[in-house]
Order: sequence, then C-alpha cells, then structure tokens
Amino acid sequence: MADVSPAPSAKAFVPKLLINGELVGASDGATFPLFNPATREKIADVPEATTQDVETAVAAAKAAFPAWSALDPTARGACLKRLGALIRKHNDELAYLESISMGRPVSEYFEGWVAAGEFDHYAEAWSSIQGQATLNTPGFVGLTLRQPYGVAGVIIPWNVPVLFLAKKAAPALIAGNTVVLKSSEKAPLASAKIAELAVEAGFPPGVFNIITGHGQTSGAAMSSHMDIGVLTFTGSGRTGRLIQEAAAKSNLKKVILELGGKSPAIVFDDANLEKTVAQTVKGIQWNSGQVCMANSRIYVQEAIASTFVEVFNKEFASVKAGNPLDKDVHHGPLVDDVQYRSVLSYIEEGKKSGTVAIGGQGTLESTGGYFVEPTVFLDTPEDARIMKEEIFGPVVHINTFKTEAEAIAKANDTVYGLYASVYTRDIERAMRVAKALDSGHVSINASSPTTGRDLPFGGYKVSGQGREGYLHSLDNFLETKTVLIRVDAE
Ligand code: NAD
Repeated sequence: MADVSPAPSAKAFVPKLLINGELVGASDGATFPLFNPATREKIADVPEATTQDVETAVAAAKAAFPAWSALDPTARGACLKRLGALIRKHNDELAYLESISMGRPVSEYFEGWVAAGEFDHYAEAWSSIQGQATLNTPGFVGLTLRQPYGVAGVIIPWNVPVLFLAKKAAPALIAGNTVVLKSSEKAPLASAKIAELAVEAGFPPGVFNIITGHGQTSGAAMSSHMDIGVLTFTGSGRTGRLIQEAAAKSNLKKVILELGGKSPAIVFDDANLEKTVAQTVKGIQWNSGQVCMANSRIYVQEAIASTFVEVFNKEFASVKAGNPLDKDVHHGPLVDDVQYRSVLSYIEEGKKSGTVAIGGQGTLESTGGYFVEPTVFLDTPEDARIMKEEIFGPVVHINTFKTEAEAIAKANDTVYGLYASVYTRDIERAMRVAKALDSGHVSINASSPTTGRDLPFGGYKVSGQGREGYLHSLDNFLETKTVLIRVDAE
C-alpha cells in the first residue's frame, strides 16, 4: 500500500483550543502527539487541555450566557448560519483531516455536509421553542417557559466527530445556551478546524468554546463542573457511567447519553436477497465497523442462510481497502493501536467458539497501518463473549433461526438496544417484530447508517438515555419553568 503523505495545507494546520474567542495552546503548553492510523506517521501535536483550561472555558461561557441568551434568536441563528456555510466551504479539508487522524475514507465522507445542514436547520429552529398555556387551575392562568440551562457541556467520540459536534452544539446554541465542547483525543483535528471556523463565523467570545484533550483530565473536569447545567455525551458505556456518576456527585447536571450497541439484523426468508446483502454489508463495513449502530449480529432464517452467507461474504470481502485518501478506497484502518489490538483480540477469542468464514486477520505487518480484514463468523454460540460485547470493527456474526419468536429472542438477548433491522416483504410481520424488539430504533429493510433526521435517535437499556433528532435535541437543552398567575376578580 502506498504511504499516506499529508498535503501541505494539512501539514500546516496547527490545532488550538478555542477559549473565550481566542485560539490558544494549553495553559501549561502541554501537547500530545497524534498519528495517522494508515501509516503510523506523526501528524500533529495537539493541545492537552488542563483542568485550568476547562475552568477558563466554563467561566467564559458563563460570562457570555446572559447576553447570548438575551439576543434576538435570529441573531444567534445568523452565527450558526455563517458557521454552516464555512463548514460546507471547508468540507474537503475536514474530510482530509478526518482521514489522516482516524482513517476515514474520503470517498465516503459526508459529515461536513450533514454538519453544515444541522447548523442551517437549527439557525431557523428557534421558533419551535414554545411553552404551554393553561386555564385548568381555577382562578389562574398557567404558563410554561422554555429557557436555556446556561453552560452546556458537549463531549464527543472519535468515530464520526463532526457529525456529533454539529448535532449537539447547534441545538444547544440556538436554544440560548453557551457551549464548552471537548473532542476526542483520537480524532481532534476536524473539531479544531471547526474552532477556527467558529471564530470566523463571529460567535461572541465565550459563546462557543472547543477544547482538545483526554477524557480523564478535561472530560472529567467538565463532568463534575458545578457551572455546567447540562452535559450531552456520545461514547462508550464505560465513560457514560463515569460521567453520570460525576454528575450525580457534583451538581446533578442533566446528562444525555448516547452509548454503544450490538445491533441485530433479522433476515426472513422472503426478504429481497440482493438488497438485504447490500444493506447489511454496508451496515458493518461503513467506517470499518466503528459505528455504534453497525449490524454486528445478523440472524438469517435457515432456508436462505447458505445463499445469504455466500453472497454476503463475496460482497464484504470485495470492499477495497487501502489509503483512505484514495478516492476509490472504502475500507480504512481502525483508529489506532488500542482499537486494533482490541479488535484482534476479540477475533482471536471468537475463533475458539465460532467458525471464521472470511477474514480474521490484521494486516499491520504488510500495510504499516491498523487495517483489519472484513471478518465473518458463523455458528458462534449466543452466549459467547464476542456475541455480547461491542467489538467496534469490521467483524460480523451470522447465525441462523427457524421461527420468528426465536429470532426476536436472540436479537433481544443483549444488554444493548440502540438499532435493529428487520428484512422481510411481509409488513404485518415487520411491524410485529419491530414492536417486539428492545431497541430505540428499528429499520425495516434498511441498516445503519440509515436514520431519520427529524426522528428521535437513542438507546434502550445500556445504549443510553435521552433522544436526539431535530426537535428532540432542542428539548435536551431547555429547562421548563411553570408560571402561575392569579387572575381572581378583586
Ligand atoms: P469513549 O467513551 O472512549 O470516549 C468518548 C469521549 O469521552 C472522548 O472525548 C473521551 O476523551 C471522553 N472521555 C473519556 N473518559 C472520560 C471521562 N472519565 N470523563 C469524561 N469524558 C471522558 O468512546 P469512544 O471510544 O470515543 O467512542 C466509541 C464508543 O462510542 C462506542 O462504544 C460507540 O458505540 C459509542 N458511540 C455511540 C453513538 C450513539 O449515538 N449511541 C455514536 C457513536 C459512538
């Protein structure tokens, strides 16, 4: 495989923290190195935000809040619109930065466009912020007011960073909150680029702060901060629990958690085979399987199982791996050494209980990058650890079932409940199964990454709490105040 050589523009990019309208280094000057997972070359020194930096960012956000929340919402919206336009303009650079930092193939990069669309949408969405009025308390007029919390904390993961940045920060900001956002230490570059763009977009100082750094320092400081009123998080269940605990031990801030998954796809024997294979391959292949809602467990009805497996394996194995900067590559490396070792150890353990149909190897020695072959396991026992835990790589288990009831029981036998798919031409069965699945999202005849932007997204069980999606996300960042006005005659 050819080495990935960063282009001059990205080589010149120096990530900074955005605090109180200024692009700065960490308060103690500390940085951490970032490596390209396709080549293992060092690509940047990234500021490691300190606890003091979090203090400064939150203080700036707190100071900026009264004026920002009092603005005409169209003035807040104008800042969001300008940022959306700048993100769109810099889409290719964002794609490039994601590619060199976390291995995202540029051929599949759409997040810049979607992120820009989120800022555009929320720029206009202020008019959806409405309270209620009631005469049901005799002698009173009752009202509710929807008001921002103050400082909103946002902590995002590395797998689709720009998308999460936009989906969380845009509704928080239009609702009148000020924001302190921390990107993931594994993929901080695109968020740091957006920090530059936020300055250009003209947000008043302190309104939108974006920091880089590791979770145990700056993330933990945010989670336990007394002046952050609401914190929205996407990431692993382990970190979600730590954040929830820190919130409970500090100011009991509101916490929204979007966590992991072990998503099932159920394929009935009347499904359209060709389309089902295309969807389910995409579901596990996209982003090299590093997707919370990837269909990592596929249950196929026995009558079509051997044909399905044959076609699926052929299509999954044919995905082109390589330099994620090449326009015809669709299979990039895993994000880093830790993820690579973790996925390989799951695969090795899986070999003891199931049968490898394709793949099953990492290719670090031959490629120099953290590439893992598309891997399919067959006949893995349902109670094997690899069937229960999130692998977060291009690894899928295909098992079979005889009856609808058996498929539902297997699909639901997990602590997760984020995304599920049902493939069938029988609408009654599709709806019956959708109703029975313990999952925050069910797609009929579709797999991840298909979601509806104006529909709520979020998990049952340990996949999280709270929902995101156009109106639902706005709600996450608004307190509800009841006002009761006595209107008795004198
Ligand atoms: P992670 O939990 O390791 O890290 C996520 C973020 O939390 C990072 O910014 C990290 O620095 C920060 N963090 C780490 N420790 C912290 C602490 N003690 N306090 C505060 N913040 C801390 O997750 P990840 O590896 O970046 O992302 C992968 C996980 O995210 C997977 O489990 C995946 O399923 C999940 N995910 C869920 C969704 C969803 O919408 N439900 C979407 C994408 C990813």
